[in-house]
Amino acid sequence: MITIRKRLSRLVMMALVPLLLCQATSCGVDEKKEENNPEDQPAAAVTIVPAKPGVGVGRVMPAAEEPNGIIIYIDPGHGFMDGGTGDGILADGLLEKDVNMAIALKLSEDLAMLGYTAKLTHDGENLPPAAVNDHIFNAYERADYANSLTMDYFISIHVNSAQNPDAEGSRIYYYDSSNKVKKVGGTVAELMGKAIEKTLPDDPDPVIVDQSLDPYNAFILCNQVNAPSALVEVGFCTNKNDAQKMVSENWQEKFAQSLANGIDEYFTEYAE
Ligand SMILES: [Zn+2]
Repeated sequence: MITIRKRLSRLVMMALVPLLLCQATSCGVDEKKEENNPEDQPAAAVTIVPAKPGVGVGRVMPAAEEPNGIIIYIDPGHGFMDGGTGDGILADGLLEKDVNMAIALKLSEDLAMLGYTAKLTHDGENLPPAAVNDHIFNAYERADYANSLTMDYFISIHVNSAQNPDAEGSRIYYYDSSNKVKKVGGTVAELMGKAIEKTLPDDPDPVIVDQSLDPYNAFILCNQVNAPSALVEVGFCTNKNDAQKMVSENWQEKFAQSLANGIDEYFTEYAE
C-alpha cells in the first residue's frame, strides 16, 4: 500500500514539474508564439483600433476612451535580421528586438484604450518600404520615415547593455532643440519617469537624459526626429535583475502602462 502511494505521489510530481516549469517561463513562450505567428502581428503603420468594451457575466472590461485625434508612433528598436543586444544573455533565447516588440505592442494597446491613434513604425518581420538603403531599417531611415509622417509624439523602445554588470534600470533620452516642432520632449520624459517610479516602485528610478547637453553623443532618433520624441532603454540585459524582469510579461505590461500614463498625462494636463 505504502509503495503504491509513493509511486502515485512520484507520478503526480512527474506530471506537475513540467507544468510548473512551463508556467515559470510562460512569458517567453507567449512572445515566441507572437514572433512565429505573423497573423498576430499588426501590419506596419496600421492604426490599432481599440476593441469595444465587453461586458460579460462577472467580467467587466475597461471601456475604451473616444478617439482623441492624437497620433503616437512607436518604434520597436531593431527587428528583422537585426536582433539588437541580449544574444545569449536573455532567457529563452530572446533578443532585444523581441522585448522591444512586446513592450511596443502593449504600449500601442494601452494608448489605443486611452483614445490615442497608436501606430508602429514596423511589424518586426517585413522590412518597410522606408528602409531604402539598409536591410536593418537603420536609425537615419527611421528618422526620415518619422519626419515624412504626421504625428504628435514619437517613442523608440530599446534594451541597454553595458560592460559593468551593476549598471541597471531604465533610461529615457530626449533632445529638445530648435528643429523640434515643439520642445516638450523633456516634459513627457519626466512624466513617463514619474509614472514608472509609481507603477514599479521596487525598480531603480529611471534616469532622464537631456541629449542636447551632449549633442555629439546623442542618439540619431532623438536628435533628428522633428516631432517631440524619446528613446527609452527599458533596462540592461547585462544586469541580472533587469534581464529577468524584462522577459516577464507582467513587468512588460507595467512598464508599457507607465509609458502610456506619462504620455497621456502630458496630452491631457500639459499640452496647449
Ligand atoms: Zn537597441
